[in-house]
Order: sequence, then structure tokens, then C-alpha cells
Amino acid sequence: MEANSSGEDCCVKVAVHIRPLIGDERLQGCKDCVSIVPGKPQVQIGTHSFTFDHVYGSTGSPSTEMYDECVSPLVDGLFQGYNATVLAYGQTGSGKTYTMGTSLKDGCHSGIIPKVMDSLFSKIDTLKHEIEFQLHVSFIEIHKEEVRDLLDPDSASKQELANGHAGKVTSPGKPPIQIRETSNGVITLAGSTECSVKTLKEMADCLEQGSLSRATGSTNMNNQSRLHPGVSGDGNLNDCMTEDYLSAKLHLVDLAGSERAKRTGSDGLRFKEGVHINKGLLALGNVISALGDEKKRKEGVHVPYRDSKLTRLLQDSLGGNSRTVMIACVSPADINAEETLNTLKYANRAR
Ligand code: ADP
Ligand code: MG
Repeated sequence: MEANSSGEDCCVKVAVHIRPLIGDERLQGCKDCVSIVPGKPQVQIGTHSFTFDHVYGSTGSPSTEMYDECVSPLVDGLFQGYNATVLAYGQTGSGKTYTMGTSLKDGCHSGIIPKVMDSLFSKIDTLKHEIEFQLHVSFIEIHKEEVRDLLDPDSASKQELANGHAGKVTSPGKPPIQIRETSNGVITLAGSTECSVKTLKEMADCLEQGSLSRATGSTNMNNQSRLHPGVSGDGNLNDCMTEDYLSAKLHLVDLAGSERAKRTGSDGLRFKEGVHINKGLLALGNVISALGDEKKRKEGVHVPYRDSKLTRLLQDSLGGNSRTVMIACVSPADINAEETLNTLKYANRAR
């Protein structure tokens, strides 16, 4: 039994994904410095030891187990109206993109996003005779606190990528995407493309299109589903639209490399801002730590969602009634030991 299996009490689960040594690291003669305590969700590095909700190494079929244990319950929850967020955290090269499955070159069928898509459509397939579904996808990137639309074909980013100026963010002539909150606490992305998708293929095409427009920073694929129970083929949809529907969002987030989040201060303290700080990662750490601290939550401690675009965007999908999984990705190589330790500390703070 896990300490947190009571469900509602724990709104954030933390898993660690340790990738195998990769070609470059082997060539450099790196040694494996991260180990899993057999039979326990516990990781050891040097003299440090951390326990998480789940730990996945490179033996067995980690991606299938990870999906079944960490992500599948979130997908099920969508069909009951619970928003959810899956975040991949870690230094550049630690396997975030591989884990999320947003890189086409890795044969992305092994990652989380393709599995989510498969499972969404197979559930919809079994329910579609009783329930009407609407599925919308948006794919955005937050870079230097600006939100870019990866599904907008006219977005400047693509032209800039083509011209070799990937760093520039602003798109002249087009108003930036704005994160807004409705009067009932729903967060919306005003001005972003929302693709209505009906098939797995359409959704996969969205993923492909968005992935090609990516530059850097953290990306967020957002599936928004609306379920209309009891609408049969000849029912009058409009009558049901207003009342009888359930709506839920799933955010799938490939975060920016954590090595940019230079940190000072010890665990449990608020990270202090330094140079080249990634605002989103700092704010995320603070929000998740505030949510995970039961004592603080009971005292009604302020959760600093407004400190960054990322946390603001995820506000209605972190904490409260929603479900969150953070997957901390680490390299096992000794040359990365310091960053690996930082990642494990950050993840540990989220529990
Ligand atoms: P990040 O997105 O964190 O920068 P990537 O996902 O791009 O890292 O992974 C870096 C490299 O490691 C890639 O070449 C990727 O194919 C490889 N890699 C990552 N995770 C795994 C894994 N679990 N098994 C095998 N190779 C992996
Ligand atoms: Mg990546």
C-alpha cells in the first residue's frame, strides 16, 4: 500500500523515470550513479535516498507500467469530469520529450501522449452510442513568459525557424494569446487555436504539426473533452448542450530544461530568483509544494498560481478537484549527478 493511496488527500503524485545511459555517455565512459532500491519506489544517488510514489528504471517495460499506473487513472477521471495534468520535469537530455512522446524521431508510440490518444479514442469508441463527445486540442509553448500557438499555421515562429531565427517570439500583427479566468474559475487561452478532432488520426496530425513548430521552452498539449450523456443519433443536440454536459481538460506538459532554474536556499524554502531563472519552473515548484503540504492547505495558505504563465494556465488543473502527476526524468550518468540530485530534490519537494 502506498502512503497516499487514499486518493483525494493527495492531489499530486510524483514518479521518477531513470533513462538508460545513452550513446554519448557510454562513449565518454560515464558510470551509472543512480540506483533503485529493489521492491521499493526508492532512488539512491551517492549517500542520498528518496522515496516517491513510483520509480521506473530501464528494465521491464517502464513506459507501459508508467502509463498504466500514473496516467491511465487521469484519463479515466476525465470521463467523470476531473481535470488533470501530467508534467515531465528534468534537465535537458534527461528524457522528458521521450517520456511524453512528443518527439517524432523517437518513434513516439512509446511515449505518454500517443498512449493517451489511443486510450481516449478507444474509450470514446465504446461509449459513443450513448454519449456525444467533443474533443478539442490546443498545443502551445511558453517561452520567456510568452504564450505561442504551435497550431497556428501563420504563427511567426515557423517562418522564423525556417529563416534560422528560432529565438524570436513575437508575432507581428497577431495579438498574443492571453490566459483568462472565467467567473467560475475556468482558465481559458484566449486567441489560441482549438482544433476539433474526431479521429485518432486527426489528433495525431495535430501533434505532428505542433511538434514541428516547437522551438524551446515548455510545451503543453491540452485535450479538452466535452461529454454529452444520453444524446443518441436522432436526439436534439441543442437541447442538451446547455445543461447535460460534462467537461474536462487534460494538460500534457513537456517542461523546459530544469538546469536553467538556478536555485538557492534549501529544500522546503521558496526558491529565490537568480540570473537566467525559469519563472515557470520556480512557480510550479512553489505551487506544487503549497498544494502538497496538507497542513498549509488546511490553513488556507495562498497558492501562488499567478507567479508565472505556466502555473496560471494550469490553475484549474492542479490542485482542487484535479489530478496531477509529475514525472521527474533523470540521467543515470555520473557526469549528471549534480543535476540529477537537483531534480530529485525538486520532485521530493512536490510530495
Ligand atoms: P529531454 O527532452 O529531457 O531534453 P530527450 O527526451 O530528448 O531529453 O532525451 C535525450 C536522449 O535520450 C534522446 O536521444 C532520447 O532518445 C534518449 N532517451 C531518453 N529517454 C530514453 C529512454 N527511456 N530509453 C532510451 N533512450 C532514451
Ligand atoms: Mg525535450
